[in-house]
Amino acid sequence: MKTTLGRRAFVKTGACGFAGLATGTLLNFAATPLAAVAQQPSSQQGKTMTKEWQDTLTPEQIIALAKAGNQRFVKGERIERDYQQDVQATKNAQHPAAIILSCIDSRAPAEIIFDAGIGNIFNARVAGNFVDLDIAGSMEYACKVAGSKLVLVLGHTNCGAIKGAIDKVQLGNLTQLLEKLRPAVDALRDFPGEHNSHNKAFVDAVATKNVQLTLENIRHISPILNKMEQDKQIMMAGAMYNVGTGQVEFLS
Ligand SMILES: [Zn+2]
Repeated sequence: MKTTLGRRAFVKTGACGFAGLATGTLLNFAATPLAAVAQQPSSQQGKTMTKEWQDTLTPEQIIALAKAGNQRFVKGERIERDYQQDVQATKNAQHPAAIILSCIDSRAPAEIIFDAGIGNIFNARVAGNFVDLDIAGSMEYACKVAGSKLVLVLGHTNCGAIKGAIDKVQLGNLTQLLEKLRPAVDALRDFPGEHNSHNKAFVDAVATKNVQLTLENIRHISPILNKMEQDKQIMMAGAMYNVGTGQVEFLS
């Protein structure tokens, strides 16, 4: 589905949701793992996230929807949205599919790069996308109270916070923030090349390691989320966003 989706078709399908909730979009991915999503009852397609639909989706399907949404973003095939319609549909309750922890970087707005609508995603953002107790508490609310089934830690290429941590920048409160990212820098002490912010490969490798360490930290400091993951009620995943291509690459 291109953005040329007509107004009449838009109203009919809704075109809300984390990804291709409109039938036509899903059909474009029929040969992919998204086929499983496409097999959902038609009554659950093309609607804003509802409690019933949230209950139906599996964490794996939510990841598939996220991947499909990012592909639409990369290809310039984003779904036309009526934000006011989203506002009306979500004014009394929210049932987001996922909580995404990402950097404050202005080039990585989650709803846009995943082609999602209002009410689809909880956002936690802090420079360097690390987790602390307050963000862990936010994640626990998202998953345990509001029913989200995916915790996604999203790092990105060319990250200024990671560069600052590598170069040991000292500036006001930023100094102690960057300390939170040092474990990722220290973990790559054997990485080839110069260990400064001019080494792009090193910067992106540290950002990737930081995503992995953040996932471990979430499991460590949140017994609630850890148990939900072990019970397969939720999934935790990491990904890297490429600010040069718009592509999100999920980490295995
Ligand atoms: Zn960043």
